[in-house]
Amino acid sequence: IEIVVYEGDILLRRGRRSAINCESCLWPKSQDGLVKISPGLLLFLAMTERSWIADALQEISTLTCVQFVNRTTETDYVYVEHGCWSYFGKIGGRQAVGLVKNGCMDKGAIQHEMNHALGFIHEQARSDRDRFVKIMWEHIVAGNFGKVNSKNLGLPYDYSSVMHYGAYDFSSTPGKPTIVPVPNPSVPIGQREGLSNLDVAKINKLYKCNCCSNVLPKSKGSFTSVNYPSPYPNNSNCLWLIRIHRSKIFLQFEAFDLQHSSDCSSDYIKIYNGNSKNSPVLLDKYCGKGPLPSLVASGSTMLVEFTSDESITATGFRASYHRGTNTPLQSLENSINSICMEELKILNMYSRVVFFCYSLHFHSNC
Ligand SMILES: [Zn+2]
Repeated sequence: IEIVVYEGDILLRRGRRSAINCESCLWPKSQDGLVKISPGLLLFLAMTERSWIADALQEISTLTCVQFVNRTTETDYVYVEHGCWSYFGKIGGRQAVGLVKNGCMDKGAIQHEMNHALGFIHEQARSDRDRFVKIMWEHIVAGNFGKVNSKNLGLPYDYSSVMHYGAYDFSSTPGKPTIVPVPNPSVPIGQREGLSNLDVAKINKLYKCNCCSNVLPKSKGSFTSVNYPSPYPNNSNCLWLIRIHRSKIFLQFEAFDLQHSSDCSSDYIKIYNGNSKNSPVLLDKYCGKGPLPSLVASGSTMLVEFTSDESITATGFRASYHRGTNTPLQSLENSINSICMEELKILNMYSRVVFFCYSLHFHSNC
């Protein structure tokens, strides 16, 4: 088989150039609706490298129906190699993916290579890219900046995709970009912090996943249950992954009204200190009418899960989040001491004191 390197980090077998446009390149879906991929981790990996890879892949598993599971008897599987490259889509049999290399250990870089293996091309290679970027051919030293006859899944072009090149990638001259967004050349492109909201939507669409997943990658923002303040739908199950680069995360609920049930077994919200449902629980199943305590995630990710059953709805919730460097009661224009007292008063109202203690303990001014 003749293998060619395409766009810098994709290995292609000749004759298979259409990207996302290749049904046979997709990984099969099992009867439970999950796409199971078995990544073999080779022994050369250090523990830190293993944990970075596991964390990056966990984010894909949390937000989509693509699951990375231990291999048993699967004949088609991926194994992790040195380097920073991937085949395009499933090629059959034992398939390597390069995830271990300096500069390729960022969460988004690992997800980038695994996304190639799932069947995704570079964002700037999309068939419609000329409406969104200008390729500066005169500054390109290597790589392949061509377009492909891609299936764009009916989803928008995404400057913030982990699959987008950076502005200066493969430049022949320092300071000379190879890709310039149009019409606004100052739009950031090529982040590797982690999957964008559209990256998640594209995986879920390509693999026909029945997932309601959202990524909140900014340093502050807000989100609501579906239809808020109108009642949320029955039988819904949604996730919000908050990711703030190298920061703790504060979350506050401004409104909260979910169907009440004993043990909150009907409709509930559940919050995790990390990027998966296996992460430590910050707030176990919670329902009824608020208010809820503010919550703090100790790492850079927090996962919010909302589930409703088949009957009775309510207005739902509205929440806001921000970086951990600010106090959650920043809006109170009181002295530093009284802000701390105010937090202590709130603390007495709830049983979940541990997270407030945590945030107080590390507060620089208090
Ligand atoms: Zn790539």
